[in-house]
Amino acid sequence: MTEKLIDGKALAQKMQGQLAEKVERLKAEYGIVPGLAVILVGDNPASQVYVRNKERSAIKAGFKSETVRLSEAISEEELIEIIKSYNQDPSFHGILVQLPLPAHINDKKIILTIDPSKDVDGFHPMNTGHLWSGRPMMVPCTPAGIMEMLSAYEVNLEGKHAVIIGRSNIVGKPMAQLLLDKNATVTLTHSRTRHLADVCKRADVLIVAIGQGHFVTKDFVKEGAVVIDVGMNRDDNGKLIGDVKFDEVATVASLITPVPGGVGPMTITMLLEQTYQAALRSVIK
Ligand code: NAP
Repeated sequence: MTEKLIDGKALAQKMQGQLAEKVERLKAEYGIVPGLAVILVGDNPASQVYVRNKERSAIKAGFKSETVRLSEAISEEELIEIIKSYNQDPSFHGILVQLPLPAHINDKKIILTIDPSKDVDGFHPMNTGHLWSGRPMMVPCTPAGIMEMLSAYEVNLEGKHAVIIGRSNIVGKPMAQLLLDKNATVTLTHSRTRHLADVCKRADVLIVAIGQGHFVTKDFVKEGAVVIDVGMNRDDNGKLIGDVKFDEVATVASLITPVPGGVGPMTITMLLEQTYQAALRSVIK
């Protein structure tokens, strides 16, 4: 079984260790420390956990990390002013606004406020444009982390059929472009896709980002396929589970990510990597 597992946790630890060394070199050679500002509005428990994990990993890798925790009642204008102050602060190379935001704040407007060169989540339309024109700058961290995992496990994508379930701006759509860049043939599916299991069963690489626990069974998976599970759901007992029924799908897949310990840790790693790259670009033009 273990030889089938894509161990995102171990890969993330390795990459974050290497990142800490790169941060040390950046400090020694250029006297700068990569700075990451994370802005959290409200007290959504899941967001609080994500933000705490990001902060912990950033500090461990030697980054300057600042987390701004704001009241749910903050106005859109006030939030925009805070983001603008980080845009202008040269000691911060990455700015992340944790989503979702409260309903009275327009998240599109907030994302547009972030300086695209500091948009380490890769959600600004300018970065989306760079990605879709084949010249990625800041890439959404979850699909970027998946590409790192596929590369680390030597999954050759050239000419392969990759099927993605889920077309969100955060995962599915950028994932499609990154796979295209590696010459995969990509099918992007969603809730209106007909005969979904049959479409998925033709995949050499199946990426699942739906948000429904244990939705994908082995009836969706071709023998020998690589299966990446992005989903993070809670079962009736509060246990974290993926979108894929791991135990049965693992019997047919050649490689599979677990939940937890798969995609999640790599998402944070890519956030740090992109902040480091932004800091590097600030000194090496
Ligand atoms: P999202 O914005 O809610 O999008 C879900 C997508 O799944 C939509 O495109 C939806 O189709 C599609 N979908 C829903 N039900 C479906 C069904 N029955 N059949 C086919 N497609 C279906 O979600 P997201 O932000 O992409 O996140 C997806 C999951 O990944 C969540 O569990 C989230 O927590 C997790 N996630 C994990 C990480 C990580 O770092 N591990 C990062 C991001 C997200 P329509 O477009 O037609 O509605």
